[in-house]
Amino acid sequence: MPPMPDITYRDLQRGLHELGLGPASRFVAHASLSAFGHVRGGAAALAAALTAVGDLVMMPAFTYQCQVTPLVGPADNGLAYGDHFAENAEAELFQPDLPAHADMGVTAETLRHLPGARRSSHPLLSFTAVGSRAEAALAAQTLAEPFGPLGWLAAAGGDVLLLGVDHTRNAALHYAEYRAGRKQFVRWALTPDGVRACPGWPGCAEGFNAIAAHVPALTRTTRVGGALLQRLPLAGLLTAAEALLRRDPLALLCGRPDCARCEAVRRQIA
Ligand SMILES: [Zn+2]
Repeated sequence: MPPMPDITYRDLQRGLHELGLGPASRFVAHASLSAFGHVRGGAAALAAALTAVGDLVMMPAFTYQCQVTPLVGPADNGLAYGDHFAENAEAELFQPDLPAHADMGVTAETLRHLPGARRSSHPLLSFTAVGSRAEAALAAQTLAEPFGPLGWLAAAGGDVLLLGVDHTRNAALHYAEYRAGRKQFVRWALTPDGVRACPGWPGCAEGFNAIAAHVPALTRTTRVGGALLQRLPLAGLLTAAEALLRRDPLALLCGRPDCARCEAVRRQIA
């Protein structure tokens, strides 16, 4: 089999245009660069294509590496307290310029470095954004409502883009869980002001692909290289996911028997 040809900036632009994106588009993107195949110019090419096509580009720049776990804390928190000494010892202090955790992908980190890029100040769940209204979008985040920027974006007619990733990366579904009243958790971050409690910590995302069957009419797709690109309007997705969660309080949970957060949600409902 011949090797897959390189993905070019032009291919990326074509894909984004095929999703119907244009100069007025505002979106949150979740991306896996490696899913595309070999992209000429790497993450810089993808970040440039995203900012060239839309008016506002947001990506999660979460910093899981700042998380610490106390010896004791609230009960039923989807977490085993106690022996976290080794992880706690390796935790990093949150700083506004701290790189996003590696799980966020190289594209988010590249976007964060673009001229004019902004970043919110949540010590674990910050977002980065480029474009008009970036500051307004990020200002919608509070410690109590970490996914608030997605609510802002939904109200502004924005979309979610899944670029070579599936719904298990779709942070909007966490926001839908919050709005539907699903149990939230508390985690802790190491900050220059000491250890800070972060309420509104979301549940587990491993069961999120079940949403796909409920939103086919909202989902626009295309392919670029090895990557499936999906675009869903945030407002419609949030409405559909919230309705699903209210109808079936066990929806979107994962099936792992040892999943502490999904178990905590089930216990609360039982
Ligand atoms: Zn789970």
